[in-house]
Amino acid sequence: MRHIAVIGSGPAGYYTAEACQKAFGDDCRVDIIDRLPVPFGLIRSGVAPDHQSIKGVSRRYEQVALTDNVRFVGNVSVGRDVSVEELQALYDAVVLATGAPVDKPIGIPGDDLPGVIGSAAFVGWYNGHPDFADLAPALHGPGAVVIGNGNVALDVARILAKDETEFAGSDIVAHALTALRTAEIDTITILGRRGPHQIAMTPKELGELGHLTRAAPVVDPADLPPEADDAALDPGQRKSVTLLREFAKGTTADDKPIRVIFDFFAKPVRIEGEGHVARVIVERTALDSEGRANGTGETYAIPASLVVSCIGYRTPPIPGIPYDDRAGRFANDEGRIAPGLYAVGWARRGPTGTIGTNRPDGFAIAEKIGEDFPAGSGKEGRPGLDSLLASRKVDVVTFRDWQKIEAAEAAAAREGSPREKFTTIEALLGARHSIQN
Ligand code: NAP
Repeated sequence: MRHIAVIGSGPAGYYTAEACQKAFGDDCRVDIIDRLPVPFGLIRSGVAPDHQSIKGVSRRYEQVALTDNVRFVGNVSVGRDVSVEELQALYDAVVLATGAPVDKPIGIPGDDLPGVIGSAAFVGWYNGHPDFADLAPALHGPGAVVIGNGNVALDVARILAKDETEFAGSDIVAHALTALRTAEIDTITILGRRGPHQIAMTPKELGELGHLTRAAPVVDPADLPPEADDAALDPGQRKSVTLLREFAKGTTADDKPIRVIFDFFAKPVRIEGEGHVARVIVERTALDSEGRANGTGETYAIPASLVVSCIGYRTPPIPGIPYDDRAGRFANDEGRIAPGLYAVGWARRGPTGTIGTNRPDGFAIAEKIGEDFPAGSGKEGRPGLDSLLASRKVDVVTFRDWQKIEAAEAAAAREGSPREKFTTIEALLGARHSIQN
């Protein structure tokens, strides 16, 4: 019997469990450990609340979770309740699927001013992550600046731009909906340090900006390269750039009260304000032959009460585990960190790709575990963890408990929403008892 502990219950964690289940069948027991009392990581706390079709993938993880060989061990913090070394002593394989939940720092003067936040915090806030429920972002307007030209920047800009009716059917939390309802932001500037050909925005997500009720995208035609140059782009990128060309025609901008301005070749160099952000100082850039953005020396100011940096994420290091500081993830060789210790998903390869990209990752790790452990090595596995956690009086949340929490959230939902998320650990733990079997 192979005993496998997966740390982190997001997509990478569940795909790994699914792959181990497929590869080893009844010859494995997988424990998926998460510090939160709720599973699914980025699906619950990262994917935008108005993208319910993407969130639906959690039903697939549920099928994995409900097999006898896979267990959810929630409300257990590795580092606080149990150490990686202790898990290594109990399990043949320990897989770090901890994602990349920490914002890459902007690293410019003024980035610590109140009103400047990272996307992990802002996205966590509107998705009801307990760590960010108290964020209270400054939505008094009139300007917001979103730094970065990736899909997270699009999510953030779209959530700021939507009106209340456009959240129908979403699972945005009540505290965010209430705050956004009274927001006074009428200009959202998306800063890209490079140009339209270098965006990391996918067409479906970019296209949504063109169909918002009260907001319209604005692109300066002068920023667009000659149309003939689009032929060199891959098809997806070409579609995105075609959308920017549509936006540049400006057909819808005039009659909508909120503008989402794409400011290309614009690098933030300083954030200013008296006790709170008031403006972002931006330097014009030009691309060199390698496609790098170089400052031109020309600067200007964009008024802003809120700055959200969406420039990528890092995996938090764990003491004693080899870490690649430059890349912001665990140091690993195709997922292997040390004998019996592995990394998958963003913790292995950094924060890129879609949810589905993690699936092949999980299968690759299961294959490596199979190579490294043709059979189990007689370790204790589950009973050992259970007695350790019991001795430390850890209040473990099972998948059955999670189903009760989910039912309680559904019962608390406002009209048209699939659920109302509970946003504190206490409320989540308490919800287990509010629903009878
Ligand atoms: P990303 O795709 O890597 O984009 C990061 C952006 O930040 C890039 O435009 C980058 O510009 C810019 N940037 C980095 N450092 C910067 C700096 N110091 N100053 C200014 N700009 C800077 O990351 P992401 O948007 O966080 O997304 C992470 C992953 O999740 C991606 O794979 C994304 O597609 C995925 N995702 C998908 C969806 C969806 O499918 N609906 C939604 C959200 C996220 P350079 O190119 O110049 O470095």
